[in-house]
Amino acid sequence: MGDTTLSKVRSYREEILEPLFALARKNLNFALEFMGFVEHGLITYPLFCLSITGERFTGGKDVFISGGIHGEEPAGPYAVMRFLENNVAGFLNYRFLIFPCVNPFGFEHGCRFNPDGIDVNRQFKPDTDCREAAKVLRMLSRFGRKFVCGIDLHETDPNWADEGFTAADNPTTFYMWETCADKRLRVGNRVMYAVKRIAPVCDWPTIYRDTNHGGVIWYPEGCANPVYAQGTTLDAYLNANYTPQSFTLETPCGWDMEKRVAVHLAAVRTILESKRA
Ligand SMILES: [Zn+2]
Repeated sequence: MGDTTLSKVRSYREEILEPLFALARKNLNFALEFMGFVEHGLITYPLFCLSITGERFTGGKDVFISGGIHGEEPAGPYAVMRFLENNVAGFLNYRFLIFPCVNPFGFEHGCRFNPDGIDVNRQFKPDTDCREAAKVLRMLSRFGRKFVCGIDLHETDPNWADEGFTAADNPTTFYMWETCADKRLRVGNRVMYAVKRIAPVCDWPTIYRDTNHGGVIWYPEGCANPVYAQGTTLDAYLNANYTPQSFTLETPCGWDMEKRVAVHLAAVRTILESKRA
């Protein structure tokens, strides 16, 4: 559908690409990988991912991080950039594969969808014709890594109403999905403990029909949401193919940006600290 009436609300080039290139120039262990272009009319968005090998990486501890699949959830890309600037150096035992902004068109236009009007986070399947999802899948296959965990940074738009839900169903505090069949590996409670020191978490009994445990929705057993049951979200795809443990983090768009970024970073750091041992 490619809505041409949308106006640009932020710059992918200035806020993502230029800082990303500056970081890669400064840090020899940051390897940028070009993923291809996504065109929209006369605008062309080059997509990149980033491989970072920590100095103490000795094999085995690979981590996947992504942001910006939904364009109207900008704290994800901002938090990834902040993590690269300020935090990644504290996790030198890992090797990272990072997708800072999967849907640059959505990021620039404050729009959930890609230029074709597609929800990218319902397109992680082998036969997808969604351009952004296909490029991520190709990179996953090319790198061929297995991850100790995958973390996808999202936000909850207070106005979102689709797929059988209304705006009243949208949480207005932090929550997350943790998909991990082995309950001994789960770290959701630790993430909530860390986040609660700086921001409130969702205590509703259910979130989008899934059972909520103090801010954490655990899969596979909590699988009551028909959208997630399709298994075409990035976290589900990662869990099925590349990692035993995947996370989707959700900050509410109603908070100011600094708070949303700080909460994402607290959650990401807690996950990485928990998986380090
Ligand atoms: Zn989202």
